[in-house]
Amino acid sequence: MARNIILSCLIFLFLSHSSSSVYGITESPDVTRKHLFESMEVLTGVPWTYLAAMDQYEKNIHRLKKDSSSDKRMTSIKIPEPLWVGFSNPNLDDEHLASILFFQGIGRDGNGDQLAKRTDDIDVLYSIALYLARNGTDEDSIREQLWRYYKHSIPVDIITHIAKIFKKFDRIDLQGSAFPIPLSYNYTYRSTWGDRRGWGGLRIHEGTDIFADYGTPVRSTCYGYVELKGWNRYGGWRIGIRDLHNNYHYFAHLSGFRKGLKQGDIVQPGEVIGSVGSTGYGPPGTSGKFPPHLHYGLYKFNGRNTYSYDPYPLLKKWERQAKEKRKLKKQNKRNATKQ
Ligand SMILES: [Zn+2]
Repeated sequence: MARNIILSCLIFLFLSHSSSSVYGITESPDVTRKHLFESMEVLTGVPWTYLAAMDQYEKNIHRLKKDSSSDKRMTSIKIPEPLWVGFSNPNLDDEHLASILFFQGIGRDGNGDQLAKRTDDIDVLYSIALYLARNGTDEDSIREQLWRYYKHSIPVDIITHIAKIFKKFDRIDLQGSAFPIPLSYNYTYRSTWGDRRGWGGLRIHEGTDIFADYGTPVRSTCYGYVELKGWNRYGGWRIGIRDLHNNYHYFAHLSGFRKGLKQGDIVQPGEVIGSVGSTGYGPPGTSGKFPPHLHYGLYKFNGRNTYSYDPYPLLKKWERQAKEKRKLKKQNKRNATKQ
């Protein structure tokens, strides 16, 4: 009974938020969604950041599959029918709580209408939050349940890392990218993705090489989580950053890392992470076997596999945006001095 009262209050709060005008201030859908995740945290103890991260992860996957079946929903988590209704339940569309409970399905009623609907945002979030909280609401317990849900270690890591990004900024509307080299430095690059490679056997070139002098700053291209920092005989000193869209950004041949940067740090677009070098093609410390450059690679996880794709068009776009921003800044400065 008490639970129902709490639920009704939360849902009322959520609905009044999503009507998007509180005290005449229009609230963005992202802010509304964040409120919804926070409500679920109050109710289930699962940190809102995990619910938001799982939602973000599923949005990325469904977008890749061009799956639009949930377009009318506000959130993107899609729970498979057999899990929702129970694996031995003969009725895959079952919405009745009693029979779902009997067949040990995970579907629950979050909005108090006595039905557990797979297509209702609140029912889905409430059900998945209870599922994640089964063994506790600390990080390890949630990760264990995420593994049980996806049966794959990469989604577990991606969701954990996205959750840490959301926690750091206390926001889910994190947009923006940056060109990895500051425009004020000399650099040059062309499209070389897919070219054949000599060193280390037959490989294709999985990235774009940006040639620049030793020590040129290298910046993060995205909001992300530093998943990797260290040496590899091909890439030399390198950094791997996971962003919010299932992309893994790979920066190689660095001469060094920004002081204090460590695995697990959260970075934002334009933040310096290291500097251009020519490390790699040998044991740790090997340098100078080729001209200094930044090797920048992009990898995508589609729910099953990770694959490399050409970063060149994106680099061009980010470079253009940086140039426009610089031009605007100069104009504003000129206008300010005229006044
Ligand atoms: Zn390269």
